[in-house]
Amino acid sequence: LKFSRRDFLKLAVAGAVAAGASGLPQASPAAASGPVSRCLWLSWDGADWRSVTGLMGQGLLPNLSRLNVVRMIASPNTATKAGHSEVITGQGCDRTNVITNKRYNSDIQAEWTAFYRVRKAHPRWFISSIMSKRDHTGDHLIHDGQAGINRKQPWFHFKTWAKAGGMSRYFNPSMTPLAETGKDMTLDYTTGRFTEDIDTYLASGAPGFLIYCHWAQPDHTGHQHGMGSPEWNADLVKLDAILGWAIGELQPEAVFLYSDHGFDDFGAKQHLDAPEAMLASNLPLTSDGLRWDVAYTVLSTLGLPVQTFEPRLRGRDLRLT
Ligand SMILES: [Zn+2]
Repeated sequence: LKFSRRDFLKLAVAGAVAAGASGLPQASPAAASGPVSRCLWLSWDGADWRSVTGLMGQGLLPNLSRLNVVRMIASPNTATKAGHSEVITGQGCDRTNVITNKRYNSDIQAEWTAFYRVRKAHPRWFISSIMSKRDHTGDHLIHDGQAGINRKQPWFHFKTWAKAGGMSRYFNPSMTPLAETGKDMTLDYTTGRFTEDIDTYLASGAPGFLIYCHWAQPDHTGHQHGMGSPEWNADLVKLDAILGWAIGELQPEAVFLYSDHGFDDFGAKQHLDAPEAMLASNLPLTSDGLRWDVAYTVLSTLGLPVQTFEPRLRGRDLRLT
């Protein structure tokens, strides 16, 4: 009986195999010393630091528990649009012009993204991204009838470069009919796209990779059932299994996993004032960083000259040295 890699993912998500069992490689990448060339970068939308650490304490997130997990402060706006814009560009909302989920008209240029910076340094690497929210991580021009203006979603400028071959693979739900993906892609749908990216990389022979994937969960579930609900917890358990599976497949030298914001409290279905985000890595990290520090940290880990970038990157390297 021979299992395919995807069978292992299904079994892992179903909790039928523990990481490390049955040929699945151990999900504990060794910390690299010099610049790394294999980097996995993931986002669990809305995964509140308090909830995640609580579930880790119960032993429910074994793969995340192998990483160093620290609190990150989501500020000033504790929502998805501004949060992901800050994380991926290393810029603040004053420059991105993505201020809140409703107040935005993105100025983010492709050149400002971490993906572009890595592509310039490493033309032959496999670089991919998956965004899973049609609205808050979208890439379209939206007509706002009430305000009488057109608004550019965060990745409006980026997508032109990405689709023209800047990215090895690029996926945004706006590329598909709404009936296929929904406004927020389901956990399973996103994971399907993620396995395609991994398969494509593994077949590519590329000398390095930056593989990025954003899941709309547990945020989407939190809005329906509340933070800490059985449904919310089940999402995190699934995401943890996918994390372990992906680390086993890719054997990354560096893993970064973040959330863009938390939730107001256990039981809450909103995140109006929810700064308790999280950041995790196989590399030791400083606690209480900010979202724009993530770009700085990822690019520094890849050995890029972050201090020379224009516009100047906000933030600092959160790795403990
Ligand atoms: Zn939300």
